[in-house]
Amino acid sequence: MSGREVALRVEEIVKAFPGTEGEARAVDGISFTIEEGRFYTLLGPSGCGKTTTLRCVAGLERTDAGRIWLAGRVVSSHKPRVFVRPDERDLGMVFQSYAIWPHMTVFDNVAFPLRAMGRRRRGIPRAAIRPRVLDVLEKVQLSGYESRMASKLSGGQQQRLALARALARDPKLLLLDEPLSNLDAGLRERMRTELRRLQRTVGVTTLYVTHDQSEALSMSNRVAVMEGGRIVQEASPRDIYRRPATRFVANFVGRTNLLDARVLGGGDGGTLRLETRAGVLHAVCPEGTRQYEAASLSIRPEDVRLHVERPVSVPNVLEGRVEYRLFLGESVEYQVSVGGELLLSRQHPDVDLRRRTEVFVEFPVQHCIVVSDEHGSTAPPPADLDEDSQDGEPEGLQDARPVLGAVPPLPVLAGELPARIDEPR
Ligand code: ATP
Repeated sequence: MSGREVALRVEEIVKAFPGTEGEARAVDGISFTIEEGRFYTLLGPSGCGKTTTLRCVAGLERTDAGRIWLAGRVVSSHKPRVFVRPDERDLGMVFQSYAIWPHMTVFDNVAFPLRAMGRRRRGIPRAAIRPRVLDVLEKVQLSGYESRMASKLSGGQQQRLALARALARDPKLLLLDEPLSNLDAGLRERMRTELRRLQRTVGVTTLYVTHDQSEALSMSNRVAVMEGGRIVQEASPRDIYRRPATRFVANFVGRTNLLDARVLGGGDGGTLRLETRAGVLHAVCPEGTRQYEAASLSIRPEDVRLHVERPVSVPNVLEGRVEYRLFLGESVEYQVSVGGELLLSRQHPDVDLRRRTEVFVEFPVQHCIVVSDEHGSTAPPPADLDEDSQDGEPEGLQDARPVLGAVPPLPVLAGELPARIDEPR
């Protein structure tokens, strides 16, 4: 923690809905905290429980277990029973359909919640409404549009108006549920930058929900990846991408080569040696990975380096052959067979290798990451690995299975994150 106050604390919340086969837990014991001023994202595929989590925070759903604190105050608790109404939680919300009022002007859209607050005697004085509205419209770059009907705004402007309305009351927490998903691709990308700039300028703590990994990686301070109602990994965007904890995270966030492997023994500097169908590789492992254990190895395509000459004094180099290539303009993708594996390598467009070229394939050790399988249990060993090729069990590697989140920090933090190159599952 950075010494900042905690704006939102969610502890072990559960939310179940009746289904065809009895109760189904949409949210299954989720905990996280967001520090003041931070941008926190719940990322996951459709149906993983992100929106339900957000709705529990908003007070639009009542939780079946667990507790939620906003700015130090319990707003939802199962035992003892506490439930603070949504309009008393001091939140701003923008949803997928940003629900601005088309029959009102831009000014009135933003002023409406402030006037409503005034009527309930909790709001700001009447005289303060106009300057507040003008100020927040300026922040979202809609100055000059005050008297325009909201229905006459473009998609991006309507989205900014929804944000202005959510921010007008100076909320303690801003909740955003896929707010960019109705925009076309170009605008969505611009709005990403815009939204992040605005969030930083205003300094409002933000909980963001999306299934789009590019949004999550580019905007967030922290990302929690969800699967089946649970958080399977929470980390910085860079660590989520570079150090995925599970097969699911490695696959869902970006594209990766996943190799079935077995731990052979300890390598140098906290690495382990693994047997794979491609060959023996050294890799970074979570603490507690046991020898002989079946494991999965994740290597991003941009980390699979191709050489025509064998690199000297470089570890993790195996022989391979180019099977297929796909020129994509900004990069070239090569399918390379290495031992019994077909691996994807992403290269700069200047790299020009013909099919059937024999190559030396380098797998930088720090980018070979051992990940656990989806459910934290060990996968069966690959069928054609040789049982007799195992080394003696090294000290300190006796625990039963990979421990999520126990991966040491990345030694190399250079370079930009690559653009997304596939669809999430
Ligand atoms: P999406 O990105 O598609 O919105 P999500 O990750 O936000 O998905 P949720 O909307 O939270 O997922 O839904 C999680 C699960 O709970 C889903 O299986 C969904 O069908 C179920 N669910 C959500 N709301 C209800 C409800 N009111 N009644 C019954 N089931 C519900």
